[in-house]
Amino acid sequence: MISVNRIAFGMAACALSASPALADTEWEYTGERGADRWGQLSVDFELCERGIMQTPIDLGQANATGDVAFDINWSAGPLTILNNGHTVQANFAEGSSMTSGGKTFNLIQVHFHTPSEHTINGEHYPLVGHFVHVSEAGELAVVGVMYEVGAAHSEMQKLVDAAPSEKRNAMAVDGVTFDPNLLLPDDMAIYRYQGSLTTPPCSEGVNWHVVAAPVEVSQAQIDAMEGIMGMNARPVQLLNGRLLVAPE
Ligand SMILES: [Zn+2]
Repeated sequence: MISVNRIAFGMAACALSASPALADTEWEYTGERGADRWGQLSVDFELCERGIMQTPIDLGQANATGDVAFDINWSAGPLTILNNGHTVQANFAEGSSMTSGGKTFNLIQVHFHTPSEHTINGEHYPLVGHFVHVSEAGELAVVGVMYEVGAAHSEMQKLVDAAPSEKRNAMAVDGVTFDPNLLLPDDMAIYRYQGSLTTPPCSEGVNWHVVAAPVEVSQAQIDAMEGIMGMNARPVQLLNGRLLVAPE
């Protein structure tokens, strides 16, 4: 998911004042307020049901291959972490960015889902990180990184140790430096397509980049994140004829 009130900067105030329901409408992943009903919970969530460029999707149905021009320039900084009731999220200070399609996007946060939201030939990974970026113009770009069971990961452990078990506002973690680069694989070949936020209001126009190669973290680290967040993956959506570029 992408927290829209964190992302939209100047736009957020207008959107929220014009549509109080956007801020007030509670949603969940399952049950009466579950993902298959988001579009009916609020008029502001209509795209969750009616949108035709939605995320996540199954990446196994790629209809093109290519090496997408894509560059990451992230730096380490103090760890700031929160739990918004749907996900565990670390926020970044200014100074980290990515370029894609000739545009620059600034890294603002990473948050996690258990299991992964995107699938590959129907298979989920047990954990995914969504690194959310926004351009000066307010356009969003996300880098998704899959995590698989393997060796414990020291940078992931910093998040596990600091993750609030209950809903809680952002807090700085004293004396901990967090380097998002360490949560990336060596092979940065990506899937690329145009999609949406994966949480209400499911806004479209999001530039998705999902890294094909997974990174190992331990089962205990996955269990810890899953224990805090629960199942927080939106079901896969239809591709609807969009261009989906797989790595060569
Ligand atoms: Zn997400």
